[in-house]
Amino acid sequence: MILCSALLAGCVRDPPPDLASPGISLELARHRAATVADLRYEIDLSVPEERLEPLIGTVTLRFRWNDPARLPFVVDMQEPQDRIDEVEVNGELVPDLEYRNNHVVISADLLRTDDENEVVIRMRAGDGPLNRQESFLYTLFVPDRAHHALPVLDQPDLKARVSLSLEIPAGWEAVANGRRVADEELGQGRRRLVFAETQPISTYLIAFAVGAWQRIEGEVAGRSITLYHRETDADRVAANVDRIFELHGTALEWLETYTDIPYPFDDFEIVAVPSFQYSGMEHPGAIYYRAASLFLEPSATQAQLLGRASVIAHETTHMWFGDLVTMRWFDDVWTKEVFANFYAAKIVNPAFPDLEHDLRFFLAHHPAAYGVDRSRGANPIRQPLDNLAEAGSLYGPIIYQKAPIVMRQLERLLGEGRFQEGMRRYLERFAFANASWPELIEILDPLAEIDLAAWSRVWVELPGRPVVDVVREAGDEDLRWRLELRDPQGVPAGTTAGEARVWAQTLDPVVGLGGEVLPLAEVDLGPSRVHLAPALAREGPSEWLLPDGGGYGYALFRLDPESREALLEWIPHLEAPLHRASAIFILWDAILEGELPPARLLDRLLERIAGETEEQLLSHLLGILDTTYWLFLSPDDRQAWAPRVEEALVERLRGAERATVKATVFRALRNVALTPEAVGIVRGVWAGERAFPNLTLGEDDRTSTAFALALREVDGWEDVLEGEEALIEDPDRLERFRFLRPSVDADPDVRERFFESLRERENRSREPWVRTGLAHLNHPLRADHGLRFLRPALELLEEIQRTGDIFFPQDWIGATLAGHASPEAVAVVEVFLAARPDYPPRLRQKILQAVDVTERAARVQGGGP
Ligand SMILES: [Zn+2]
Repeated sequence: MILCSALLAGCVRDPPPDLASPGISLELARHRAATVADLRYEIDLSVPEERLEPLIGTVTLRFRWNDPARLPFVVDMQEPQDRIDEVEVNGELVPDLEYRNNHVVISADLLRTDDENEVVIRMRAGDGPLNRQESFLYTLFVPDRAHHALPVLDQPDLKARVSLSLEIPAGWEAVANGRRVADEELGQGRRRLVFAETQPISTYLIAFAVGAWQRIEGEVAGRSITLYHRETDADRVAANVDRIFELHGTALEWLETYTDIPYPFDDFEIVAVPSFQYSGMEHPGAIYYRAASLFLEPSATQAQLLGRASVIAHETTHMWFGDLVTMRWFDDVWTKEVFANFYAAKIVNPAFPDLEHDLRFFLAHHPAAYGVDRSRGANPIRQPLDNLAEAGSLYGPIIYQKAPIVMRQLERLLGEGRFQEGMRRYLERFAFANASWPELIEILDPLAEIDLAAWSRVWVELPGRPVVDVVREAGDEDLRWRLELRDPQGVPAGTTAGEARVWAQTLDPVVGLGGEVLPLAEVDLGPSRVHLAPALAREGPSEWLLPDGGGYGYALFRLDPESREALLEWIPHLEAPLHRASAIFILWDAILEGELPPARLLDRLLERIAGETEEQLLSHLLGILDTTYWLFLSPDDRQAWAPRVEEALVERLRGAERATVKATVFRALRNVALTPEAVGIVRGVWAGERAFPNLTLGEDDRTSTAFALALREVDGWEDVLEGEEALIEDPDRLERFRFLRPSVDADPDVRERFFESLRERENRSREPWVRTGLAHLNHPLRADHGLRFLRPALELLEEIQRTGDIFFPQDWIGATLAGHASPEAVAVVEVFLAARPDYPPRLRQKILQAVDVTERAARVQGGGP
């Protein structure tokens, strides 16, 4: 031990860190995690019926504390000066409360070392994360919003046991993390619900939803389950509820078997939230879902059925991955999302036995991940984070889509058995605690033959995807292809120059030769730059190599010109749907790179729309068709293509097929319809005057169709909207319709007023509605007028990030830019960013990601490379 005194030269004490700086700094979080233990919250709240009245109550923190530095104890609370009435520490009222930067600062002198401390805070809850509506509310605290409502230590690695007591209007219901243990009538129209103390959970997982909810009880996997909802269409509920329960049961059983750990929490309850911001949120004991994703309409597409199964499997997986074992800090938030998606893909398989699951994995992950990784705003999977206030900006397709692709490669490297063994060790070792990615790598490393830390540096810590060039070498007698691996920065892999990265991955190439499709042996792309496929005897003219027939690879694959031409012809003859998908997405990349004229692929797509039997692939083909049609064709070319595109879709509607296919194709037709004939057909279907076999429109579908007709300014579009509004019975859906109606109005002034209204935070509270409204304002048919919204939308983005939930910044800017393909739109974004060199880097990335397709489309339309 060295005694240090400020009087001794050369021994200068650092000033104590300012733990109460704005937000939740990494420094504060680390300090608290090291000094606080055995944390418990007792939360006692009174919920008024009136939306504008505050929730009043008490939050009691109990914990052990040992801080040798005796720094002040910091509790996080947004605007404490307006919300806190009094604070008692260990039985003593604190006379002069210190508030700093949305923290309550408590002197160390009031605390007891190595003994239980009790801090009682009487306060009014902040409304921000309470999502208050007229007759219900629900908390949403992820990632750092718990302290916007309640005084807590708001960081994921201070897990706490939470006891909750809610006094609510007698006619209302409440659901929370813990099991309900008491229900007491208080008289005067009030009642108190008490929930049992939970297992240790992170603050972002604390949840309660209160209001006029209906309850349905059921049983899954030997456990009782309760569903809370507000759906008014009883048929719609009845048609879905059994399947919703069953999907949860399947997921729970799968996970219990795989992890060898029983469901870790007491209660299993789910809440169907109208217009919920996310598809789902994994609060233990109170999982939330977007109601429309659970209660599907009879006209649901296969993609919606699969989406529902996936989100249920995703949230259920979080009970182990995320809730039982949680990241230490939000830089590793991807570790919970990657496993949720990775295992969801496995869990969903048995529920859809007819589906090709490798294809499904590919379609669910690769296109979205490539969408970011090919942009100038690509971000790595793991991103450093200094302050929780910025945690929301970490989310996106790299976490949700690229990370599972990378994890699947890791599973292939280790073998499924060893991978599973590693995950069991991880869950067992960190149960009800926290772990970082390096701590997981440490567990997996002894199970792997490669250097996992080096592998992680390339795939997890750095952005982008490698380039794999396919090079053809043909002699008179034989033929072979070289696969050349390049770093995205142009540095060849395996060279010693610069930061050459080794993008280790295994590919499953297939070749077309003499009229047959032949799989080749796996190719391990390792440190050397060039990899040879075996030489083959030449047999016929249509010879091509598809570098990744298995859907495991992750790269920009650039075909040799012969393979590209041959594959364009061969797509219909590729029997394996995954081969067709792989070929089409490689060709789509070629369009985006300016190497293939869009019309070449469009021709092929129209043929596939007629003949594609794999429904999930069809729906992605229609997506590519839509983007190509609206963004990559000039308005004149689009007009010229319209009759052929529409006819292909109408033709497919005429056939006798499954309802899910019909719903998908009709939506595509509604989205592209331009000629009076096609618009007339869409209108006829909406009005119930035109029928196709097996095609039915649910309420949501009908509403979207009415909006599509208004966007096209059909004769009497106002009557169409009037008629639609009159048919909507559900109050939540009616409110949505009324909100969105001005966004499709033919009068530009009405649309401008709609946009102006979004400057008010209050008008942005229903984020999915706002996203749809922005898409209407900036629809390609109205992109010229929409240009005026680009700059103000960009200017609002920082505020959107501050005030909105985690996906809102990317949704906001994505919906704004998605309809634009003009050089003018690109210029607005460029000027905006150029004028702001100090703009928050992660938000800049989001803008660059969102503008990527716009930039590429403008280049292609301009005839540039
Ligand atoms: Zn998740």
